[in-house]
Amino acid sequence: MTSNASTARKTILVVEDEVDIANAIVERLVKSGYRAEAVHDGLAGVERCRVLKPDLVILDLLLPGLSGHEVCREIQRDRRVPVLMLTALDSEADVLVGLRMGADDYLTKPFSPRELVARVEAVLRRVSNQPDRTEHRIGGITLDEATRRVELDGAEVHLTPTEFALLAALMRSDGAVMTRSDLLAEVWRYTNDDSGARTVDSHIRGVRRKLGDGCVRTVHGVGYAIGDPQANDPSTAPPSDSAS
Ligand code: CA
Repeated sequence: MTSNASTARKTILVVEDEVDIANAIVERLVKSGYRAEAVHDGLAGVERCRVLKPDLVILDLLLPGLSGHEVCREIQRDRRVPVLMLTALDSEADVLVGLRMGADDYLTKPFSPRELVARVEAVLRRVSNQPDRTEHRIGGITLDEATRRVELDGAEVHLTPTEFALLAALMRSDGAVMTRSDLLAEVWRYTNDDSGARTVDSHIRGVRRKLGDGCVRTVHGVGYAIGDPQANDPSTAPPSDSAS
């Protein structure tokens, strides 16, 4: 039977090679009202993502074939899709690499099913709850919350959903300094002081890499504020190494 009543249900793709874990996640997500399916290797993840166009991908970091990092990069190349990364490696370096690759959040195994669903909900809320209102312009940056388009000097710049939400929060505050807790509350809607601060810092680095170091000012000991990418503040400039 065809059903058109399920269009509001979000679709989640689970990429996890441990079949028992994958099945348990799918079962839990379905119970929580999502459409969910699993694939068990990285290449299948990339291919399935293209066809399914899920609202969110739950992605294991350690996969046979293509690694979680490679899968994350591949699927973000096609289309900006929120990614919740699963990792057995409780190493900060791995987590940060994952976030740099465009993951929106991560969960360290073992995790409780309840925690997983809470994280899924938080990521989806963060992505969909951004008010579709106005266009913001600061310096050469234009951010349109309705079309979710970001331009730097008229050229489109592709941000991950989390980077977009961070930049939008900073632009809405119109130059006022936001603390990391402000940003966590607004962008992530949860507070988790230790890894939370590092998560903010990591995504800020992503925004700067794409829009220029001056686009976000570090206010030492306080937090971040939107800056003008053209006004190169020496305090935020990276050490000069122009050799490429
Ligand atoms: Ca694995």
